[in-house]
Amino acid sequence: MRILVTGGAGFIGSHLCERLLSEGHEVICLDNFFTGRKQNIVQLFDSKSFELVRHDVTEPILLEVDQIYNLACPASPVHYQYNPVKTVKTSVMGMINMLGMAKRVKARILQASTSEIYGDPLVHPQTEDYFGNVNPIGLRSCYDEGKRVAETLMMDYHRQNAVDTRIVRIFNTYGKRMLENDGRVVSNFVVQALRGDELTIYGDGSQTRSFCYVSDLVDGLIRLMNAESEDIHMPVNIGNPGEFTMNELAAEIGKTIGTDIKVKYLPLPQDDPKQRKPNIERAKNLLGWSPKVPLAEGLGKTVAYFRQIVKT
Ligand code: NAD
Ligand code: UDP
Repeated sequence: MRILVTGGAGFIGSHLCERLLSEGHEVICLDNFFTGRKQNIVQLFDSKSFELVRHDVTEPILLEVDQIYNLACPASPVHYQYNPVKTVKTSVMGMINMLGMAKRVKARILQASTSEIYGDPLVHPQTEDYFGNVNPIGLRSCYDEGKRVAETLMMDYHRQNAVDTRIVRIFNTYGKRMLENDGRVVSNFVVQALRGDELTIYGDGSQTRSFCYVSDLVDGLIRLMNAESEDIHMPVNIGNPGEFTMNELAAEIGKTIGTDIKVKYLPLPQDDPKQRKPNIERAKNLLGWSPKVPLAEGLGKTVAYFRQIVKT
């Protein structure tokens, strides 16, 4: 198949491009390089099946493809809050452009949605039928609400235009190729610990997240894209249900690196969700998917990657 990956030069996108090429597909990677880097995909340039297009999804584009993975959108709060209006445009106009393409060429399209659409959840763990608790006017809204509208567009294009859609709600994912200055918690803590700096814990560190290693996530994306069932168009959570406080994560990273970590507590950002953990029954039943890489193992791989980066 010929497959388009928007945001393909980013953290998750680059792993997805790699995996799709290894399965024998032709891959078009589309990216505006806001948070993506050529370095993430340079190893793919030699492949005759790989094509790179520098383009912004907020502008229309004509391509002929069989499948579209729409990942274009900054994912770290630091990056998506840098230009919040652009973040909304990326989710909304980008989604419309990609859905327009899917409709025109009859491609199947998968949207990378997020656990953030549950906001600061009042239901725990989060199941796909939970509507969420989202602040529509806060600092995180450009991302959360943008992704919610993108889901709305996916469902409406499906109902109105019979576009073949898949929605994945991705929970916190980590691994090789996260940016050193990404601002998300795993890369922050690992880089800080490797440099011997204090780990910056926001709030009292009792808030929880569930961390999925990137190879498990990519496996889930591909399974969902290629799965068939009557309700396949409805959202699917993909994440690792192991739940950790930020204090526990800091300690686990110290253990992985083998150093005594120092921490400093900083103010909790606005609307920071207090707890998050996916219910993955739907992914298990529909896709036969469940994560394989436990936190300690995934952190080991991530630390090995960042050791090289921090050294250079
Ligand atoms: P990332 O920031 O590394 O990747 C996003 C990519 O999209 C980058 O390469 C960036 O340059 C590109 N991009 C941004 N705006 C664009 C635009 N207007 N036009 C074209 N390209 C654009 O983030 P990631 O962690 O790889 O996330 C990928 C997707 O998965 C995002 O849609 C994100 O919302 C979603 N997601 C990620 C996580 C996670 O924990 N990593 C969790 C939930 C959802
Ligand atoms: N966090 C932290 N220190 C950091 C970066 C993040 O304590 O240096 C916290 C943040 O407040 C949140 C959790 O870690 O409670 C996860 O943050 P991240 O930005 O990785 O993801 P998200 O909040 O979008 O789930």
